[in-house]
Amino acid sequence: MDFPKNNIHQFRNSFNEVYTLIGSSETLPDNLPNVRVCRFCGKNENEVYFKKIAHACPELLGQNNLVIYDECDSCNEKFSKYESHLSKFFLPYLSVVGVKGKKKIPDFQSRKDNEDENTRTSLKYTDDGKIILYLNSLDDYKVDVENKTMSIRFRNPAIKPIYVYKALLKIALSFLPQCKVQKYQLLFDWLQNENTEIVFFSTLFITKLTRKKFGKPSVQLYEANKIFTDKDFHPELTLVVNFANIVAQIYLPLSESFDYPKSDGKSPILELYPAFIYNVDSEKHKGSDRPITVNYRFESIDLHSERSSIRDEVINFTFESGSFNISKSN
Ligand SMILES: [Zn+2]
Repeated sequence: MDFPKNNIHQFRNSFNEVYTLIGSSETLPDNLPNVRVCRFCGKNENEVYFKKIAHACPELLGQNNLVIYDECDSCNEKFSKYESHLSKFFLPYLSVVGVKGKKKIPDFQSRKDNEDENTRTSLKYTDDGKIILYLNSLDDYKVDVENKTMSIRFRNPAIKPIYVYKALLKIALSFLPQCKVQKYQLLFDWLQNENTEIVFFSTLFITKLTRKKFGKPSVQLYEANKIFTDKDFHPELTLVVNFANIVAQIYLPLSESFDYPKSDGKSPILELYPAFIYNVDSEKHKGSDRPITVNYRFESIDLHSERSSIRDEVINFTFESGSFNISKSN
């Protein structure tokens, strides 16, 4: 079954009425079970190894201690393929914001276009925490010294969008309470096996924060209280991940028990998590009884494709001080 390509998504401030939090980085259980069974492949410790430390939220999004004990080493290995695409996808932000991954802040190294070395951008950290930015093409950046703003084009390396989606799905399923694993078994099957038939909403919503960055990544998994309205329906699960200066949201594929006949003639409504709250300057509004109005800006990116694709990321930021040395590198 196919839904129309451009799903209806709108910000209606009703997210909290539709969705209930069922799992989060705050409530992740940290008990080591007596018998270890992998939630992803269903195998137990007699069949597979559980030697590696498995993170519910990969450390590439920032150091964290969100560890799960029900992910086996083979699944961990398999998912690392998806995670490397997730890492490349968000690398400009992780690098610019300075998010420390497993060991250090990642350097950014761009792709080069048409075999032309002049299209390369890179960003490196020195040992004393300074950023060195290599920009070969003048087209790739704009500096406004007076206003202390800068905009840089990062030429991201090629990634498979569907792997980015699957890496996010894996995070979501790590936070799914044990009692709901069976209900959403089909999602686990699809994560493991590309031939599993599934209906999914491939849009990733991103809000870039200008007033806040997250020291540690945090994750929230929500389930809809009510799926159907007269005209529409809500996807059952949605995932929100906060890291760097990003709030990312996806909707999970539909479960096997989803009532497809009932959804006939209805369109999916994608309720957006109110990420803008992080961008509100609360100091400014203190003591004012006027309602807070904000421009809610988000970006939507389709992660449907299984083919390698490239994408540029333009990041705007402000700086306090810096020296601009224009030098030619070879
Ligand atoms: Zn496994």
